[in-house]
This record gives sequence, structure tokens and C-alpha cells, in this order.
Amino acid sequence: MVQDCIFCKIINKEIPAEVLYENDDVLVFKDIKPVSPIHLLIIPKKHIPTFFDLQPEDSRMMGEVQRAAATVARDMGLAQKGFRLVANCMEDSGQVIFHLHYHLLGGKRLPWLAG
Ligand code: 5GP
Ligand code: ZN
Repeated sequence: MVQDCIFCKIINKEIPAEVLYENDDVLVFKDIKPVSPIHLLIIPKKHIPTFFDLQPEDSRMMGEVQRAAATVARDMGLAQKGFRLVANCMEDSGQVIFHLHYHLLGGKRLPWLAG
């Protein structure tokens, strides 16, 4: 738990969120400003600011994060058409929340990201 981290507060239930999946390692909830019909955030419960902060002991947990993405995508009916998993890392990507997270986007044919 890191003070002043919005996602840590969501994990701690200090800020409400529409949670769709939770286990010991991972939380999945709806993005507050969706950019596609389905827009979820998949986060590790451990506060890790960016990919550059990942440690060797985080590997199993990050595997769980990715598996949770597939589980929830299946539950949301995306097994046939699929989805996109993207993560922003620091300034050039536009990362706003410095608690590592994947965006799960789906529910329509997604345009590739413009350069
Ligand atoms: P980033 O640019 O850091 O990859 O994206 C952060 C995402 O978190 C954005 O898509 C934004 O809409 C979402 N977000 C920011 N604050 C909240 C919040 O309080 N609740 C939820 N559910 N999503 C949030
Ligand atoms: Zn955090």
C-alpha cells in the first residue's frame, strides 16, 4: 500500500470501483473513462510503479496478472473475437497512474495505435 496511489486505494476499498475479478495477487476493475465498449484495468495488488521496477520475484505474480486478463476476457464474452492488452510505461507513453497496470480493450474491432 502506497499513500496517495489511487490504485492502492482501490485495492484497499478506500475508493470505489467496479471490480470484476480478484484473487490474492490481482485486481480487475472497469476503467472510469472507457475508450472501447470493454475497457478494464488489470493490476497487481503489489505496488510497482513501472515495468522498470519489476524484480525477479515478481515473475509468478505477473504471470497471474496476465492469466487473470484471459479469465476475465472469457467471462466478458471475448473468447471468440479477442481483446487487446496494453500497458503504458512512463512519460512518452502517457502513463498517468504509477501503479503498474494493463488496459484490457475489447468489444469492437480496434484500430492499431497511430504513431
Ligand atoms: P495510464 O495512462 O496510467 O495507463 O491509465 C490510467 C487509467 O486509469 C486511465 O485509463 C484512467 O481512465 C483510469 N483511472 C484513473 N483514475 C481512476 C479511478 O479512480 N478509477 C478507475 N476505475 N479508473 C481510473
Ligand atoms: Zn499503488
